[in-house]
Amino acid sequence: MKIKLTLEHQKAIITNDKKYDGQFFYAVKTTKIFCRPSCQSRVPHFDHVTIFTEAEDALEAGYRPCKRCKSGGSRLPDEEWVSHVEQYIMENYSKTLTLKQIAEHCHGSSYHLHRVFKRVTGTTPLEYVQQIRMKKAKEYLIHTNLSIQEIAKLVGIANAARFATVFKDKNKQTPSNFRKNKQKKVLENEK
Ligand SMILES: [Zn+2]
Repeated sequence: MKIKLTLEHQKAIITNDKKYDGQFFYAVKTTKIFCRPSCQSRVPHFDHVTIFTEAEDALEAGYRPCKRCKSGGSRLPDEEWVSHVEQYIMENYSKTLTLKQIAEHCHGSSYHLHRVFKRVTGTTPLEYVQQIRMKKAKEYLIHTNLSIQEIAKLVGIANAARFATVFKDKNKQTPSNFRKNKQKKVLENEK
């Protein structure tokens, strides 16, 4: 059942009070995750919190169990967690992302995240972030006339020189050359 958030709930969440575990679960709209009161994850904005009496209700409302406090009862399978992490990265690659931030948002430790992600996908979370950034950068380079600087910012690398270095590293050519080559191809195809 969904119940009203009270000051008592808020206190229990802020103090990670184990006494309340099993009495209610709190779901956070921004992360789409629900937790036990005692969960050690960051205290949420209470504006975004919904209180449920049963884990089942939170699941039904579309929330996912938390990896850290195991609010879903049994363990969240690693694969499912990793796909949740990937989703988070896809939605946030344009911001500065550190391993610690990703881990915090996805309710795990940095160490655990790095290890599990690598085991399941073969790459580390930060490598994955760069892959997504490079993929998006290519799209911008091909399909827009935005400057390299603007594109760098859009894909979460504020420093254009650093963006160019990462790009060259991965693609064996500079962003400008990549754009020239691709746009030439497009023109040839249109002939
Ligand atoms: Zn939790």
